Amino acid sequence: MDTDVMPARSPSTRTPIGNTALLRLAHAFAARAMRLPTSAEYKIETPRQTLPESYCAGCIDDALDAELKKWAEDDRAHIYTTMSAGAEHDGRSHCHKCGLMLDCRLSEYGGEIELIRFSAIRFSRHRPPSDADLYHLWKMMESLAYHGDERKIALALRIGRRVLAALTWRED
Ligand SMILES: [Zn+2]
Repeated sequence: MDTDVMPARSPSTRTPIGNTALLRLAHAFAARAMRLPTSAEYKIETPRQTLPESYCAGCIDDALDAELKKWAEDDRAHIYTTMSAGAEHDGRSHCHKCGLMLDCRLSEYGGEIELIRFSAIRFSRHRPPSDADLYHLWKMMESLAYHGDERKIALALRIGRRVLAALTWRED
């Protein structure tokens, strides 16, 4: 095989060892967070724009019906829905109608916001990590593993190991 045509190695993985440790932790949390109900993200496209609201699989039909009512018969053929699972967002994503968590990835900015948030939380016997915490930690760690510098990855690892220890406080 001609190696000259191989794609260049991504420069984003700046700290290979910390990065792998973080991804391992991310997966440990992902496995536990899986039982949290989530949905793919649905959006509505109109002839003018993609509407800013996101919906879950259970709410998109009603949202689409409501939107169609606002448009003239001729325009309705140009209104449709899109679905994505794991699109990148700057923050947590929830259904506009029912609040269900929508499956997304966090951008570099989104990962840093979660890092600040989790730096301030002290888990304890009275405040063990919830499934939602584990879900957000998973997404945070994935984002930082790819975008974070050495200092942020080290902080995320410290937080992750503390949470892992705190999981023993949970009843289940
Ligand atoms: Zn919903």
